[in-house]
Amino acid sequence: MRRREFLAATAAAALPLHRLGRIGPVHSAGFVPPVRPFDLSAVRLLPGPFLDAMEVNRRFLLAQDPDRLLHMFRLTAGLPSIAEPLGGWEAPDNELRGHYTGHYLSALALMSASQGDSELKARGDRLVAELWKCQQALGGYGYLSAFPVEFFDRLRAGKPVWAPFYTLHKIMAGLLDMHTLAGNAQALDVLRGMASWVASWTQPLGDYDMARVLEREYGGMNEVLYNLAGVTGQDRWRDVAHRFDHERFFAPLSMGRDELKGLHANTNIPKVIGAARRYELTGELRYRRIAEYFWRQVTTQRAYCTGGTSNGEGWETEPGVLSTQLSGYTQEDCTTYNMLKLTRHVFGWTADPAAADYYERALFNGILGSQHPRDGEKLYYVSLASGLWKLFGTPTQDYWCCTGTMSEAFAKLGDSIYFQDDAGVYVNLFIASQLDWAARGVHLVQQTRFPEEEGTTLVVHAQRPVRFALRIRVPYWMGAEGTARLNGRALEGFAAPGGYYVLDRTWKDGDTVAVTLPMRLHLQALPDDPAMQAVMYGPLVLVGRLGTEGLTPGVLRAEPTKPRTVPEYKSEPVPAPAFTAPGTGPADWITRTTARSLEFRTTGQQRDVTLVPFHTLFDERYAVYWKITAA
Ligand SMILES: [Zn+2]
Repeated sequence: MRRREFLAATAAAALPLHRLGRIGPVHSAGFVPPVRPFDLSAVRLLPGPFLDAMEVNRRFLLAQDPDRLLHMFRLTAGLPSIAEPLGGWEAPDNELRGHYTGHYLSALALMSASQGDSELKARGDRLVAELWKCQQALGGYGYLSAFPVEFFDRLRAGKPVWAPFYTLHKIMAGLLDMHTLAGNAQALDVLRGMASWVASWTQPLGDYDMARVLEREYGGMNEVLYNLAGVTGQDRWRDVAHRFDHERFFAPLSMGRDELKGLHANTNIPKVIGAARRYELTGELRYRRIAEYFWRQVTTQRAYCTGGTSNGEGWETEPGVLSTQLSGYTQEDCTTYNMLKLTRHVFGWTADPAAADYYERALFNGILGSQHPRDGEKLYYVSLASGLWKLFGTPTQDYWCCTGTMSEAFAKLGDSIYFQDDAGVYVNLFIASQLDWAARGVHLVQQTRFPEEEGTTLVVHAQRPVRFALRIRVPYWMGAEGTARLNGRALEGFAAPGGYYVLDRTWKDGDTVAVTLPMRLHLQALPDDPAMQAVMYGPLVLVGRLGTEGLTPGVLRAEPTKPRTVPEYKSEPVPAPAFTAPGTGPADWITRTTARSLEFRTTGQQRDVTLVPFHTLFDERYAVYWKITAA
């Protein structure tokens, strides 16, 4: 969510625009991706770090007070509320107020589907019922928000306002999730009302005026309206969605041009997810080109070793230039969240193992460590500057955009572990879980302590013998050839890194496949500065522990956040040592300290450091990138 004044100024300065060309004819047939993710409700996590993280988030969600989340909705609708107002970006004078309530509905819906959790679903149902009352009290025309409709008048008139459609999108997406994932029919009614209001608001605006409106951050308005079209089968929502396709942003992407420099990252990623949905609904290849080109540029030219992207919330450089882009404000968490959403679509079209590799990289290094294990507070930025720390939010005082997206991310950790096509199943992530593949009468159990265990075991349960292809991802990071055993018997050969190990056979109940996926230490340099390198082990970014000097409780947590301000690091960074290394590889100067954990230590350096997986380090200073020169 944009926070810097200069970014707001940039958006305003981008006017005026050229008139937009009309898009060609729309095919009505739509497009069914050849590879499809399983429903969240078909996947259950088993004990391990991901289930632990989901439980922390569950407690975080239950600690929220629904009446406080409804407070400004009720007051806006003229209904009584005596709840204590929330702080941060949900404060009564904050122009984004209400956004977290939308994220919260999504998170409740996602987690109730992920865990079959009736308590979370009941809480979501109650919120929807209360929001319905607010919508009725607002005149029943469909408008629903925690701020008055006057904000949209300002938007239309080109007057200062933060991002009303951004906030509206979160509420609409939350309602859609409550409908599609938690079976709440009332949520669809409320959403239809809101969508009708959006249609009537946009209808009088010509293309020029609408293009000006789209210069203000609007989240994924196109995506949620395309999704509504998909759910209801009503083409009118597709037409309203198309008003939010940002042609000025899409045009260079459709021609394979990276003109992302100077743009705010998370303003734009959700638009591309909308483009992906348009392609899936209409079959128009242009929108697939936009999405795939954008995905490739960001994941290969603009992503750090963690899979994250953005610095100061923006893309400030030409493609491939990241050495100047290490700061305490790198990798806004929302961008990682949205890149993973986009990756899920790209994988569905291509079954490209590189997409699955990216997903794993960003999930382990970008998401998993972005929630404090004690109270579930979330990160805004993931610092990649040396000597800083993870600056978490303070309960009820921040409600950043990333508090919202991370509430959702940790509610759907079963997502994208498995995919299916007509021939079989893809195992993309190594996470202890079970898959209920009802269509084929198959129950697949994945047992693993990955990443501590360098491999995984899959057990097939089937009422009767069933033929399908079991495809296990063979990651890019493999350090030696993997092995596979079927029912204890060693199988010959293994797939190369960056592909799939495929077993296409008739499976019977109890069949067990065990694969080893040997990891190795490897270095990843910044693309434009080969001396600046991060240390990785398998998929994991290892960070150097730099101590806790000056990190009092007040320094570790962000101050209550004012509108458009950035959480401040209230202690100076400490310097990180440089390393000299023999050119023979990191295993010659970094050693594992114990076989029981993934802790490593440098050797022979002027100042040696201990390295641990990024997602396991909290409340301590760290470094990700090091200056490493040849010995
Ligand atoms: Zn954010």
